[in-house]
Amino acid sequence: MVLSVKDVAKSYPSAEGTSAVLRGVDLEMAAGETLALTGESGSGKSTLLHLIGGLDTADNGSILVDGRDVAALDDTGRAALRRSVVSVIFQQFNLIPSLSVQANIAFQARLAGVYDPSHLTHLASKLGLSSQLDKYPEALSGGQQQRVAIARTLAARPKLVLADEPTGNLDEATAAEVLDQMLELVTDTGAGLLVVTHSPVIAARMGRRVHLSQGRLA
Ligand code: ADP
Repeated sequence: MVLSVKDVAKSYPSAEGTSAVLRGVDLEMAAGETLALTGESGSGKSTLLHLIGGLDTADNGSILVDGRDVAALDDTGRAALRRSVVSVIFQQFNLIPSLSVQANIAFQARLAGVYDPSHLTHLASKLGLSSQLDKYPEALSGGQQQRVAIARTLAARPKLVLADEPTGNLDEATAAEVLDQMLELVTDTGAGLLVVTHSPVIAARMGRRVHLSQGRLA
């Protein structure tokens, strides 16, 4: 199992006291599995992704990523987890504007200690970025920037890729193309892929689909 979530609960303070967003979430993913997480806006999808990615901590329950208990890690441990075990792709690409495309892609892999120039070349080629490597992010289209973000994530060879509406900022045709490339590369590397999406088209492309409602998965 690359991911094992058991009985996870999370509440936030609200005007009415506290509001329970997650009320006992259970989820398992096998290595290499692709999964769509759907649910209405405000149902807690991003919250769950943040907990799995070690960006926030659960009130209750356990989350094991590649066998590591996320809750038991300190800040340094969580940072290391994010760098090399789980990797998060956001809708806003979060590229570093002062670094070239090549340096952006290499960045996370270097931090994770797994930088491999030939792997980077392979990823860039698969994503159609070979002729863009010396450019800076501002010179790229939205679709190209998202491809760079995907290459940067996969270059660090994560076991689990978390993606929050990864193609939400792209037009439909570009989104479909980027999704295909991402699926192919994730399959190549054997990583698991958990995608939060509103799109039935994207959800249908994943191996499995779970729906978050009333704080639980079904
Ligand atoms: P989704 O991703 O499904 O749209 P979210 O996980 O972003 O849902 O949010 C679920 C609920 O939790 C919402 O009601 C939101 O307002 C609340 N929430 C999320 N993050 C915080 C936070 N840091 N502080 C307080 N409330 C939050």
